[in-house]
Amino acid sequence: MRMKRLPTALSTNPKSLPDRGNSCIRVALDVPLSKLFEYSLPEEIDARIGDRVAVRFGAQQKIGVVIEERVVPELPAARIKSISALRDDAPRLPADWIALMRFLSGYYQRPLGETVIGALPPRLRSTKPLPRKVLKEEPHAPGARFFARHRLTEAQTGVVERVTGGFNAFLLHGVTGSGKTEVYLHLVAKTLERGMQALILVPEISLTPQLEARFREAFPEARLALMHSGLEDIERTSAWLAAARGEAGIVLGTRLAVLAPLPKLALIVVDEEHDASFKQQEGLRYSARDAAVYRAKLAGCPVVLGTATPSLETWHNWILGRYERLELPERASPGARLPVVRMVDLREDPAEQGFCKKTLQEIEKRLTRGEQSLIFINRRGYAPVLACEACGWTAGCGRCTARMVLHAADAARTNPNGSLRCHHCGAEGAIPRACPTCGNVDLKAMGRGTQRVEETLAARFPGARVVRIDRDSARRRAELSRTLEGIRRGEGDILVGTQLLAKGHDFPALTLVGVLNADTALVSTDYRAPERLFAVLAQVSGRAGRRERPGEVLIQTRYPRHPLFAALERHDFAGFAQAQLAERKAAGFPPFVFEASLRAEAPKLETAMAFLKNAAASVRAPDEVRVFDPVPHLLTRRAGLERAQLVMQSTSRPALQEFLTLLSENLFTAAPRAVRWHLDVDPIEFD
Ligand code: ADP
Ligand code: ZN
Ligand code: ZN
Repeated sequence: MRMKRLPTALSTNPKSLPDRGNSCIRVALDVPLSKLFEYSLPEEIDARIGDRVAVRFGAQQKIGVVIEERVVPELPAARIKSISALRDDAPRLPADWIALMRFLSGYYQRPLGETVIGALPPRLRSTKPLPRKVLKEEPHAPGARFFARHRLTEAQTGVVERVTGGFNAFLLHGVTGSGKTEVYLHLVAKTLERGMQALILVPEISLTPQLEARFREAFPEARLALMHSGLEDIERTSAWLAAARGEAGIVLGTRLAVLAPLPKLALIVVDEEHDASFKQQEGLRYSARDAAVYRAKLAGCPVVLGTATPSLETWHNWILGRYERLELPERASPGARLPVVRMVDLREDPAEQGFCKKTLQEIEKRLTRGEQSLIFINRRGYAPVLACEACGWTAGCGRCTARMVLHAADAARTNPNGSLRCHHCGAEGAIPRACPTCGNVDLKAMGRGTQRVEETLAARFPGARVVRIDRDSARRRAELSRTLEGIRRGEGDILVGTQLLAKGHDFPALTLVGVLNADTALVSTDYRAPERLFAVLAQVSGRAGRRERPGEVLIQTRYPRHPLFAALERHDFAGFAQAQLAERKAAGFPPFVFEASLRAEAPKLETAMAFLKNAAASVRAPDEVRVFDPVPHLLTRRAGLERAQLVMQSTSRPALQEFLTLLSENLFTAAPRAVRWHLDVDPIEFD
């Protein structure tokens, strides 16, 4: 229904609109503009805040979400179009959800429309009707029956009893194997008993199958909604609807699950809160961990950040008294102790083909005892460098400032001749037979990755079953899940793997962890590198000795007395964190300052640099905000674009926010087309 043109006198003074004033709404649409759009409501439609509506936008039909209702329009009445339809096939989005979206949009400097629409599963962004399959509402099952696997230890009981009531942020600092998962299950049980919803966030898809199984086993009658980006459209929509309708008592997912509407939310758990995957690296660059804390505040419920190696931000928040720390200092399984961590000095026991003698001897011992060993090397592929020793040529990526990684032929024959791959842009090429510069046919693979380590071990221990686990060996989720299940049952004698093997897994027969080339991270220029290294080494060490048989961890290094390793040997996260925080404080890094980074990409580096310079000059920074000079990224060219960034810091979060808001308003309206840019608030990666 169209509105009649109002007399001029009235339209210049919209406040005096007599009857139609109630029918104007403001709608968030996914367009790259930070404003909301005004529409009018036909008399017979009652659309409220949180409703999805179909509207005409230019020549298109779009789905929008009502953010404001009964507003006095700013547009002249004649220019206000009526909405096309109300979409009531999904529940109205609740007020706390809209509040969360407003917060995320403001804090991470993205338009509200993009934030709101982007948080919906694809099906709900589409103007097409929802498929009938997902519309079937499930009867509300009571679903609170809980089958615990263990009697809780005293320490676990203490934690479960402490986490109650209204908003409170807890750091659950529990060593690896301390039974954090068991604590989560008991907290969820308490939540379901009250008929409420629990949100459990986990870092990686690869971790979810085991955890999902534990939850299903513990709560066979409860509705569990699984949420991650690997789901099919329909599954994702159903899970989202079950969460939004309050039917799913348990919502288990990766970072995007923090964006689901949850009308009965009463508990949030962020497992492995330190994990970098909680930070979204495109579009709305939110931290799901930080969003979870904000959300708990909105919902007035507790949030539990669980980890063996807290992020320094979280640790600092505990020191400041913002979070309460709950400790699980010992392993939960009877008789299980933390593994013994030892350094193997590469200067005394030099590595051959990557391995010190000591490491090989210990693997041998495990083989004779029928126990498993895990060799951790954080690099996939066969070798990181293919080089010509005659002229010094190395295989580089044509589109990035990076070397190509040599990948050998794999058993699955998806790569029968081997190839060169760029780990930054995904480029792939054939392995040259001869040096392209001098014609030398004797090209050398230098350094080693998981494939080469696997080859070395298979040759050294011919009878042993060597299993490699990295992103290449485990392309599909189901496959990875099967392999991991096999390892749990004892299949495989020596496991070779990257980070993928470090996290969360519970392998009962594993008693030895060997770490190859951890030293590269010690010399990194990234101030977060030590924090990450400590976390990954503590995680991977945590795989050893989770039952009665004691575990041992061997770290091959040239710096056996490095303080980071010394802290690992003592299982002393607190000592490590204290030293790191002192360094960060002295150097003026987060968490002692708040940071944001403006990044630009363009075909030419000068374009990106000039853009950043102009951007910095366009807004005067207040005294509390420090704007650094733009610098090219370490990996300057990626996928054919040159990259640079400009870092901004402040000890005052509001001052930085205010500055960023002005800056981004300018950029959204005035940025040149040749430049791709984004703002990253609280960035954690700088490569
Ligand atoms: P985390 O998540 O802290 O690494 P898990 O929850 O995976 O630890 O528990 C480690 C192991 O200890 C698991 O095998 C688990 O079944 C066992 N476990 C946990 N709680 C108890 C308990 N109260 N009594 C006995 N075993 C337990
Ligand atoms: Zn050459
Ligand atoms: Zn590349």
